[in-house]
Amino acid sequence: MPEGKIVKALSGFYYVLSEGSVTQCRGRGNFRKNKITPLVGDYVEFQAENKTDGYILKVLDRKNELVRPPIANVDQAILVFSASEPDFSPALLDRFLVLVESKEIEPLICVTKMDLVTSEEAEKIEQYVSEYRSFGYEVLMTSSKTEHGLEELTPYLKDKISVFAGQSGVGKSSLLNALNPDLELKTAMISSHLGRGKHTTRHVELIDIKDGLVADTPGFSSLEFSELEIEELPKCFPEMVEVAEECKFRGCLHINEPKCAVKSAVEAGRIPDYRYDHYLTFHKEIKERKPRY
Ligand code: GDP
Ligand code: ZN
Repeated sequence: MPEGKIVKALSGFYYVLSEGSVTQCRGRGNFRKNKITPLVGDYVEFQAENKTDGYILKVLDRKNELVRPPIANVDQAILVFSASEPDFSPALLDRFLVLVESKEIEPLICVTKMDLVTSEEAEKIEQYVSEYRSFGYEVLMTSSKTEHGLEELTPYLKDKISVFAGQSGVGKSSLLNALNPDLELKTAMISSHLGRGKHTTRHVELIDIKDGLVADTPGFSSLEFSELEIEELPKCFPEMVEVAEECKFRGCLHINEPKCAVKSAVEAGRIPDYRYDHYLTFHKEIKERKPRY
């Protein structure tokens, strides 16, 4: 049975990419009974009827799935943050990092618009960049205007399904267009902002960029921790994970527990205050979350 990857879903058709060609498929088979709706990004088994049309017979197990936009098996989230206009925001970055980590998606931080900052402002950004790298994150500094840093970004896309995420206006579309000038006509990220409400079904498409597949709609449109358990939160701060082994209590949440190694590390300046502050903010937010049922 041929296998392929759904790269586009539209009006009941699924477009399945397999060995370089795309087959337009409808659903058929037992995933219907199990109420699995095929998603863009799904690996599927399909049966071709002829060169262009076929049926999906089975949806293979998913590694993860996003709800908004609906997409499965995301390998990487490229977190786009501008150095300026809007200002770089570690609070928002940490929120995205937690959401991404909790889905077991690999984050890549991309600081854009580096051409807009003075050398003094650049130093401040570089300070953050070296801190985030020390936590274990990959960070790139780019400018879509001067094309600085774009070559470094290219290899990260290869053989992966990536979604771009970040506030409106940080330069996600510009980055995609700079990476792939042929895309000029398809400024889908822009139209998805404008088009909200215009289309009843939001459709996602994976586009081929630099030997990888990239979602044409930004990921993580909801920034709430609706699915995250409070015990999971410390695991989403990699610099705390190692230190936490020295906490007196197993399962220490690093709030009021005695002999907490994380709090000691914050006091000693080994974990930056802002990271711990954001941890506390998110902890409180999850704790005060209303039960869903
Ligand atoms: P999106 O909402 O994240 O897709 O952001 P856009 O790509 O639409 O960019 C928002 C604005 O920032 C546009 O006016 C872009 O021209 C501008 N912009 C994007 N990237 C850069 C950059 O690297 N340097 C400069 N100077 N401006 C940029
Ligand atoms: Zn602790």
